[in-house]
Amino acid sequence: MRLTKEEIVALLADEAGEEVLFRQADEVRKEFVGDAVHLRGLIEFSNICRNDCLYCGIRRSNKKVCRYRLEPEALIETARRAAAAGFKTLVMQSGEDLYYTPERLCPVIEKIKKFDVAVTLSLGERSYADYKAFREAGADRYLMRIETTDKDLYHRLDPGMSWQRRYECLLELKELGYELGSGIMTGLPGQCLASIAEDLLFLQKLGIDMAGIGPFIPHAETPLVREAGGTLGLALRTMAVMRLLLPDINIPATTAMETLHPGGRLKALQAGANVVMLNVTEKCYSRLYALYPGKTGGGAAETGRDELGEQLETLGRCIGAGYGSRKQNPVC
Ligand code: SAH
Repeated sequence: MRLTKEEIVALLADEAGEEVLFRQADEVRKEFVGDAVHLRGLIEFSNICRNDCLYCGIRRSNKKVCRYRLEPEALIETARRAAAAGFKTLVMQSGEDLYYTPERLCPVIEKIKKFDVAVTLSLGERSYADYKAFREAGADRYLMRIETTDKDLYHRLDPGMSWQRRYECLLELKELGYELGSGIMTGLPGQCLASIAEDLLFLQKLGIDMAGIGPFIPHAETPLVREAGGTLGLALRTMAVMRLLLPDINIPATTAMETLHPGGRLKALQAGANVVMLNVTEKCYSRLYALYPGKTGGGAAETGRDELGEQLETLGRCIGAGYGSRKQNPVC
């Protein structure tokens, strides 16, 4: 669907009319990607990060986090268990930890691919050569949020990083044939509705395959501790408009939505979302991967699946059987 910036701002601002927007996004979701909800198993394999993003709990300057990294064998074992529990997509996410060079990570990707799963990487910014090597080793998808398209805001929040480079990374990933996921945070300090509208138009133009949209949640050990943070309502409205703009992409009900408001995940699934990421990282590690306070998940992969399956039944939805890539969205 085509929407102007002004029309998007009006939708984002209309709190009173949000149920109408949610219903419309839900109908578009049903028509274009069906009732199946695709599950992803999220493995948070390192919280070591070279960056210092002001919003992020695992930023380099936070000396209170105990740092960890899963070694290749442990990473493969976590993936094996998640695949055995039925996950058809595994998302491997980390801080920007350069320990995992292609020499170390490619053999891991190759082994995990043998478990018959789609592999999504979310490791942040790397060189073209690294992205190419990971792709050749079998990685199918890559997830990297642009965070915001307001360059001044980006450079304030992500000191030492370059918005232009992040954008180029997304183009390189696309060129290499990755299914591309990106997205933003809503409710960042200094971010206005017009800026979010521009983000959405940017993501539409880029032609992403997946959009992750979550509310910013202030973390106590970061410089943004005293900021207000995003609301669930604005995050959901942003997500619903994304569904209207890109009707056939994958859109997760993000963890930050559920963290901000128990039940946020189910609400999102009825307002345009068709994907859920469940954390399959061992609890002792996922606890340390605290991007924001109260982040849910971690632990037994099986339990999360069963619970979600029951919740989905009440909505007349089901867990998708396939890999759940874009354009291959089976009906229930
Ligand atoms: N290093 C990887 C993964 C980043 S963590 C990368 O650069 O892509 C995954 C996402 O968590 C980030 O892209 C950001 O959008 C989100 N995030 C980080 N801190 C957050 C916070 N305080 N509240 C909400 N979301 C946050």
